[in-house]
Amino acid sequence: MRHPEEELTSLHEEGLLRSLRPMESGPPTLSRAEGHAVVNFSSNDYLGLSRDEALVTAACEAARRHGVGSGASRLISGSLPPHHALEEKIAEWKGSQAALTFASGYATAIGVLSAFLTKGDVVILDKLCHASLIDGARRSGATLRVYPHNDLNKLECLLKNYREILPNDSRLLVVTESVFSMDGDRAPIPEIVNLVEQHNALLLLDEAHAVGILGSEGQGLAEELGLQDRITFQMGTLGKAVGSAGGYLAANRAWIDLLLNKARPFIYSTAPPPAQAAASLCGIEIIASSRGKALRDRLWSNISRLAELLGKTPSSAIMPVILGTTEAALDASSALLVKGYLAPAIRFPTVPRGSARLRITLSAEHTTEAITGLHDSLLKSS
Ligand SMILES: *Cc1c(COP(=O)(O)O)cnc(C)c1O
Repeated sequence: MRHPEEELTSLHEEGLLRSLRPMESGPPTLSRAEGHAVVNFSSNDYLGLSRDEALVTAACEAARRHGVGSGASRLISGSLPPHHALEEKIAEWKGSQAALTFASGYATAIGVLSAFLTKGDVVILDKLCHASLIDGARRSGATLRVYPHNDLNKLECLLKNYREILPNDSRLLVVTESVFSMDGDRAPIPEIVNLVEQHNALLLLDEAHAVGILGSEGQGLAEELGLQDRITFQMGTLGKAVGSAGGYLAANRAWIDLLLNKARPFIYSTAPPPAQAAASLCGIEIIASSRGKALRDRLWSNISRLAELLGKTPSSAIMPVILGTTEAALDASSALLVKGYLAPAIRFPTVPRGSARLRITLSAEHTTEAITGLHDSLLKSS
């Protein structure tokens, strides 16, 4: 039998060993890691809502009123008022008939893809889709095809070919993110929506890194483009800009009813704590309000500032600095940590081999000094 020590040694030799970095809690932009006070440029808490007083209060009140645990699966007796209030708000905000929430975005992706697809169906994913989407597609039993990142010609070919050979009652689903998690670039959503409609397919759009950042009320890229009602499945997480935890799917009532009948991570798991749902609802309410708009404006001015320093055109709060080898990325990250900036190295298998990078994420709470300081230190370390 293979020993775990041997696997760990080979991961270590390849520079791919991962370990936990205990962080002390503090304001999201000034944390402590490994004994250093650091400015955190690695969090997905884009608007700083995870420590917001209103969210903390909402969570505490929900815990006092409903308890800490839900006690059972949503379908048994765990479906509490905060869960329902959250789902109604998400549906309204996303312009859909209904929504269903899960314990995490990861569980949402697994649940949705394996509930809606089966053997004989076809799922087509962008090459850079998040692991949760790939895992869900694999588990579904459908034929899985991948197109090169944002390659519309290849996507069109795949759609055309499969539409011709697929029986009428089989499903053909395209999956993409609106803002890509490791590259920060955007998918050409209008073109993808057109192709999907032309070939009588379905579209699942994961807005994990667009919610809170894009859209008139922070709903994401689909809303910003006026395309919400042409996208069958709008998916996202509540753990990033929303500041809490969980994941959701917004869709038509029939799809949501089918989902709650078939999604195994939903059915066979205790409902998320009511405090988590209450904090998520509060986070969305803030994002949709004028305060949310002000936070978005601050975030975008920070994004523009760093993009200008790096000579890049900004499209989201994620700015990768691609360094190539695992070693180069690890060295640059360590050098930054010593200078007081936390920007971890992202390595294989999270990104393809040879494209190891620093993944810098910006928050509305970063100061101008922190951003210029990060940039100065980057110049010296890479
Ligand atoms: C983070 C992320 C997820 C998973 O969401 P969690 O709530 O963290 O489990 C899914 N899809 C994408 C694109 C993500 O970036």
